[in-house]
Amino acid sequence: MLRIKRVPTVVSNYQKEENGEHPNRSTAGCGRNCLKNCCIQDAKLPLYAFKRLTKNGGKEELLLHACKEEPPVAFLDSLLLGEWEDRVQRGLFRYDVTACETKVIPGEYGFVAQLNEGRHLKKRPTEFRVDKVLQPFEENKFNFTKVGQEEVLFQFEASEDGEVQFFPNAPIDIDNSPNFVAINVSPIEYGHVLLIPRIFECLPQRMDRESLLLALHMAAEAGNQYFRLGYNSLGAFATINHLHFQAYYLAMPFPIEKAPTKKLASLNGGVKTSKLLNYPVRGLVFEGGDKLEDLSNIVSAACICLQNNNIPYNVLIADCGRQVFLLPQCYAEKQALGEVNAELLDTQVNPAVWEISGHMVLKRKKDYDEASEANAWRLLAEVSLSEERFEEVNALIFEAITSGEIDINTQCLDEVDAITSSGQSAHSDHAKMADSQECVVLQ
Ligand SMILES: [Zn+2]
Repeated sequence: MLRIKRVPTVVSNYQKEENGEHPNRSTAGCGRNCLKNCCIQDAKLPLYAFKRLTKNGGKEELLLHACKEEPPVAFLDSLLLGEWEDRVQRGLFRYDVTACETKVIPGEYGFVAQLNEGRHLKKRPTEFRVDKVLQPFEENKFNFTKVGQEEVLFQFEASEDGEVQFFPNAPIDIDNSPNFVAINVSPIEYGHVLLIPRIFECLPQRMDRESLLLALHMAAEAGNQYFRLGYNSLGAFATINHLHFQAYYLAMPFPIEKAPTKKLASLNGGVKTSKLLNYPVRGLVFEGGDKLEDLSNIVSAACICLQNNNIPYNVLIADCGRQVFLLPQCYAEKQALGEVNAELLDTQVNPAVWEISGHMVLKRKKDYDEASEANAWRLLAEVSLSEERFEEVNALIFEAITSGEIDINTQCLDEVDAITSSGQSAHSDHAKMADSQECVVLQ
């Protein structure tokens, strides 16, 4: 088993001890406004109910109005940032992220460097298993059910009547597994939050279709091109084994968003698949689709394929939920095997989704001062799979995506006569090469 000594980033103020116990635990009523039975019964939290697309609802306009220059109502934005600012005022963050030095590194891609010396506490290293992407949830380790209510900003649910709704003081319906949006007490940018799907189900950090769809909905609902969500699998620098996405605002394009791509295929529902070109980390890009579900079906199938094959990966959701980057990686594995260059190791940079996307969070002043596109590139190149391995992994992903189309397709079969395609190669045959919305059915 590969083990790495790592100092994890503290994402909650209740994550002080390795066993995740509360810092000020007292007995009667607990007194700390927690999420457990002692305190949650009468608790109220804002509830934002987003407009869910119905499966058979015909043409949906959500994707069409997403990312307009001036969204009709930036309500999710203002709710999120308003609540986030409120937690700043209440002193819940471990440092003031707006005081962290940041610069755009000169060069073609515009990598962003941030000096963040406060993010990583000096504390006892935690034994951290890095060689398994799927690990069971462990109740006794820190997880998000152990945070205080004050760290939770709002509940984020699908609306029941198909319209956006907001309830400033909604009860918490534990039995219906609410999704929570909470602060990350170690933010790397303004508005850094965590989306925790169905928090009380205590799901381990593993991707599923419904949770990815929820994350896409959040990106679409925010309707702000600077708001992205990210996901790190275990083995790819997730530090908490409780299902969560991260999200924040960065008011400029991520370098990965500017990288050229080469189209590989058009899939179900018009989802376009490409691969990144001329970027230090090899990866896939999935875009478009008639509905968010089309995109989430395909990307989640790809993620599930990776986790079932024990391949660590990161996901970036951009363009208001219309574009998803999928990046298999091998840094932690190389690190555990002693194959990472010592100079890179010394930086102690953990290349998770944000770093891979081009937002380099640096821990040492020296690295910040010496930050250059070449240095960023050199670090990220270590994260990437080799060309050969990437093509192998790609073949696995395409097989998974296209075989999954049999059941993903059920809903399409009503609308379109089945188009069949046959052949061996996933790249050329299983996937539709044309920009059509036809469903591909495998024989
Ligand atoms: Zn309590």
